[in-house]
Amino acid sequence: MAATALSVAALAALWGTWTARRARALVAEARAAERAHDDLQGRIAELDEDRRLLRSVFAGMREGLLVVDPDRRIRLVNDAFRQIFGLPFDPIGRLLAEVIRDPTVASDLDAALLEGKEIRESVVRAVDSGRSFELHVTPLHPGALVLLFEVSRLEALERVRREFVANVSHELRTPLTSIKAFVETLLEGGLEDREHARRFLSIVRRHADRMNELIDDLTDLSLIETGSIALDLQEMDAGEVARDVVAQLALRAGEVEVRCTVESPFPLQADRRRLEQILVNLVDNAIKFNRPGGRVVVSGTMEDRHPVLAVEDTGVGIPADSLEKVFHRFYRVDKARSREAGGTGLGLAIVKHLMRLHGGAVRLRSELGRGSRFELEFPPPSGSNGRGRPAS
Ligand code: ADP
Repeated sequence: MAATALSVAALAALWGTWTARRARALVAEARAAERAHDDLQGRIAELDEDRRLLRSVFAGMREGLLVVDPDRRIRLVNDAFRQIFGLPFDPIGRLLAEVIRDPTVASDLDAALLEGKEIRESVVRAVDSGRSFELHVTPLHPGALVLLFEVSRLEALERVRREFVANVSHELRTPLTSIKAFVETLLEGGLEDREHARRFLSIVRRHADRMNELIDDLTDLSLIETGSIALDLQEMDAGEVARDVVAQLALRAGEVEVRCTVESPFPLQADRRRLEQILVNLVDNAIKFNRPGGRVVVSGTMEDRHPVLAVEDTGVGIPADSLEKVFHRFYRVDKARSREAGGTGLGLAIVKHLMRLHGGAVRLRSELGRGSRFELEFPPPSGSNGRGRPAS
């Protein structure tokens, strides 16, 4: 009996120990599960945060972004991409070929998916807007990433550069061809005829001068445009400068009367040499594009504390659709007349940029057959309590 009672007691003790151990193990397991749950919650929150961040990065990108799976189904697309291809619907899950018909995108994607190749520098054009994009396709294993970088602005700059080089070559080739022709004539016996030889040589000199002028203007314009010249701004009497320019050009104005009505002192802040250059360009044009018996007047007025110098002529005038273009490099309204009159086609571009450098602007009004008026508006001189833009 005693043995049985002992074994029952022992069993009870054993049972107690076992349940206590089991209970402790269960508590430990429960705590571990709780920690794992907290960790998981934390990871899910982190992943949510990462996903939100990625979404806002994709949404904020100006570049178009698209991800496809190996079956060419769209997995991810950002707003820029949808806008470039004008996709009004959500294309997620659809086959790329159903959504975008551009053959370059399809073939570059094939190369990335099938051959694992990274493709760069194919150019695609958005049909509606005409904007151009450089296409980059990168294999992702699995799938592929398509990125579109806009190059429209670069293309436009490249076009301007090509046009500029073509214009300069043309402008230089014209006098050079003449020089070559006259020199060859002289070498082939023209030298014997002294009278002709002198005439030919003076033509050669005129064309060489023209090339020189062109190179001077080109150098000047490029320095002005890139801001590589520093203006020597001084308070000055523009009346005196205008009268000097008029006196100098009136001598070769032929049948055109040139007058200056700017009263002294007409104070403004400018670089004296550059102001002279601006006025010479405008008055010279006003004489060149005038008619016999015509008139050129340089005047000065104040407009809301801004000094304004005007060069007005009674010449051929400028058609309305050329009023802005005459300030472009090498633009000429009547090419034949302008070449005949001499000039590089850069004068007004130089005037425009020099006025900008002064913190001012040039304005133009013109009526075909009646004449033109160029107005140079300067910032208020520093002595006046003007509110205008500062001279830079
Ligand atoms: P350039 O006089 O050497 O041809 P500019 O840049 O000075 O070059 O002028 C550009 C063009 O603007 C001229 O070729 C001419 O067609 C037009 N233009 C400029 N000034 C006048 C003016 N006062 N009257 C009529 N046309 C003008």
